Order: sequence, then C-alpha cells, then structure tokens
Amino acid sequence: MTNEEIWQSVLSQIQLNISPANFATWFANTRISSIENNEVTVSVPNSFSKEWLEQKYHKDILKILKSLDDNIKEIKYIVTPVNVKMSNSQRKGVKKEEAFEQLGFSELEVSKETNLNPKYTFDNFIIGPFNEIAYAASMAVVEEPGKNYNPLFVYGDVGLGKTHLIQAIGNKIKESDANKKVKYIPAEKLISTIVNAIRNQSVEELKKNLRDIDVLIVDDIQFIAGKDKTQEEFFHTFNSLYQKNKQIILSSDRHPNNIPALTERLKSRFNGGMIADINTPDYETRMAILKQKIEEKNVNISTDVLEYIANNIQKNVRELESAINRIIIYRKTNNKTIELEDAKKLLKNIIVSPSKITNYKKIVESITEFYDIPSGNMFFSSRKKEFARPRQIAMYLLKKELKMSYSEIGRKFGGKDHTTVIHACQLIEKEYEENEKIHQEIELILQRIYSK
Ligand code: ADP
Ligand code: MG
Repeated sequence: MTNEEIWQSVLSQIQLNISPANFATWFANTRISSIENNEVTVSVPNSFSKEWLEQKYHKDILKILKSLDDNIKEIKYIVTPVNVKMSNSQRKGVKKEEAFEQLGFSELEVSKETNLNPKYTFDNFIIGPFNEIAYAASMAVVEEPGKNYNPLFVYGDVGLGKTHLIQAIGNKIKESDANKKVKYIPAEKLISTIVNAIRNQSVEELKKNLRDIDVLIVDDIQFIAGKDKTQEEFFHTFNSLYQKNKQIILSSDRHPNNIPALTERLKSRFNGGMIADINTPDYETRMAILKQKIEEKNVNISTDVLEYIANNIQKNVRELESAINRIIIYRKTNNKTIELEDAKKLLKNIIVSPSKITNYKKIVESITEFYDIPSGNMFFSSRKKEFARPRQIAMYLLKKELKMSYSEIGRKFGGKDHTTVIHACQLIEKEYEENEKIHQEIELILQRIYSK
C-alpha cells in the first residue's frame, strides 16, 4: 500500500465514527508525509488540527494504523500550512510556534514595562481623511513629547483605531529613546489601581509611581466619569506631570465636553491641549486597510471579495478586520480560492443581522458538535471541567450573535445567575481579542453556525 492508500483507509474508518462537520474541520488537508522506522508522520494544515488530532483522535488513528500494519509504533503530527511550500528538511524542523507564524497569526507579547502591545505601530496604521488630523497630532507628539500638544486627546467611535494610534505613539517614543518611561493604562485598570491603593493605604506609593512617568497614556478615559476618587487622584497626577512637561495622551469615545459626570476641572484640563477626532473611514481607506491586512498575512484574496467587504462594512475598522481575518483563516485552512459567493456566506452574520439567519438551536448544536459533546442536558448542567469552556463560549455567542439578555442566557444554562453569564462573556470576549487560538476556534464555530 502507498502512504496515500494507507491514509485513505484510516480516513474512511474515522469518518464512520464522527460527524461530517467534524471530519471536515479536523481531517481536511491531512496526509501521511512519511513512514520511517515504524513511525508514521502525519502532516496537518494547522496547529489546531494538530492539537485536536493529538488529543482526541490519536488513539483511534493508531489503532487503525496498527490494524493495517502491526509494525507501526508511533505517530507524529506535523504542521504543514497548505500554501507554504517547504522542503522536506524544513518540514521536519517545524515547531508549533513557527507553524503558527506561517499561518500568519503570531502572537506578540505585551511589554511588562510599558504595557504596550508591539503589534500597534505606525507602519501598519493606514492614514486617510478620517484620521489624518489625529495622525498629524500624534506625529507632533512623537517628535517632541511634552512640548507640542499636551494633553493629546483623541476621540471617536469604537473600533476606529484610537487604541492602535495611542499605543503606536508610545511604541515609537520608546523606540527612539529606550530610557523614556512610557506607560499605557486602560482607564478601567487605572480606576481599579486607584481604588485598591486607597483600600491598601498605598496611595502615596502609587502617586510616586505615576508621577515618575515621562509619557502617560490612558485609554478610554470616559470610564472615569462618575468615579469621584479616581477623578480626584487623576487630577493631581495630571497636574504634576503637566507641570514637569511630561506628555499625557488620552483616548475617549466622545469629546471631553460630552463626557457626563466629569468634573469641570478635568474637562478644562482635557480641553487645554489638542483634541483630535477620528471619523469613519471612506471607501478608499477601507480598501487600503483590507489590502494591508492580506499583505501582512501573505494571502491572495480577489479584488471583488475585498470590494464586497469594503462596500458592506463602513463604520468600523475592527469589523473590517474581523471580516478579512475570517476570509484569511478560511483561505488558509481550506486551501482553495475564495469566490465572492463563499465570502458572502462566510460574512453573512457580520453583514446581515445575525438574528435573521441563525437561532439558539443552531448555535448550541454547533458548539456541542464542534467539541464533540453529547447533546442534551449534560452540556447545560454537567460539572465536568471539559464542558466549562464550551459553555462559556456558548454564552458568549448567544449574547454576541443573538443579543439575548444575560438573565435569559442564565436561565437556559440551568438557572445560572446573570453575573456568572456576564463574567463568562467578558472572559471569552477578552480571549477572542487576545488569544489567537481561541479566536480561531470561535471563528471555526461561527463558520459552522452560519453554514447550517
Ligand atoms: P478603538 O480603540 O478606537 O476601539 P482599535 O484601535 O482597537 O479601535 O482598532 C480596532 C482594530 O482595527 C485594531 O485591530 C486596529 O489595529 C485596527 N485599525 C484601526 N484603525 C486602523 C488603521 N488606520 N490602520 C490599520 N488598522 C487599523
Ligand atoms: Mg480602544
């Protein structure tokens, strides 16, 4: 038997025991790349298939292989991304992280010192009429921190690049002068830090730390509205930095004058520097952003697909990005060109309101199938640890896709408290943003939900 025949025979037996959807997800583009010294090397298209095969199907595969040739002792799984050409010797040395990078989804680490994410740079920031003022102001700040615009206050709707821009400023300043103390803090974090310091009577220490900074970047400052203690402390920190010509950079979802319950004195401080807004990107810029993303990930996507996305997603760069990422992941895991019709299907829930095309049953079914969980009561009530994560993902998707209320979701899951549901949704939301593996898992589940 040739390697191909052996693998075909394995696949045909595996296929009998798992759902067609799972078979397609985990076994597409797999093959035997070699059999040497009784060790079979199975090549798989991505690290998710690899993990899945190792963890869930290894025993079955080995059993079938042994039944075909009882000399076979071991199986090794290696990742060979479908559109990356590698020589055999290279292929053998592929480590998981490298394979991950070849897929184009490498994870960068947030700096412990500055709390900045190195992925946000000016190099990958597209400029257009919608953000050019904010960009120009940012460049002025980079040139001479603390001199030109202090504070720099950037505002605009969610998903338009505020976090990207203000972190890019921090990264650039740090790059030109490694000695500069740059600190990025989301406002929620600032609030909890201040609250904790008050509780632990360590306010003086915190003040000292904050006032020691050369460039302080606070993201989503609107969250301090109504938080009196935080506003009070922040006001003093602000003044102290400002007097020393240290740079302060703030972002918000609205103009300072429109932040309710913000003290007058902070309002006037925020108005005292440069205020720059970011609008919605025009068509040309949307196309430029999409083109940049596919270039970065090194895949080929046809112009009509890009145009379809740019025409239909107009208000939000983050959505533009998730749309193109979805297409890229599909392209990379399926190894086939994407036609406009495929794109329409894949993006259905981003472009059309999801509640029109999916429902509770489809979402829950897709998740239990994906994780190979027996459907029925078990999923909702079992205390088994392995169900916890799929359940959290289910809660998250019911919220996100169907906009079900937290308490409604809680009731579906055996009368869980709405705070438990909120916690689950926040946790998964964060992982979806920050953890590439969870991101892709959820993307695969979404593909499944919307192809039902
Ligand atoms: P906001 O903080 O305004 O909600 P983000 O900065 O988080 O938005 O941006 C959302 C996503 O879109 C991020 O992944 C970001 O890298 C990307 N993005 C936003 N604006 C641009 C841009 N001008 N060029 C390239 N990518 C962008
Ligand atoms: Mg942001």
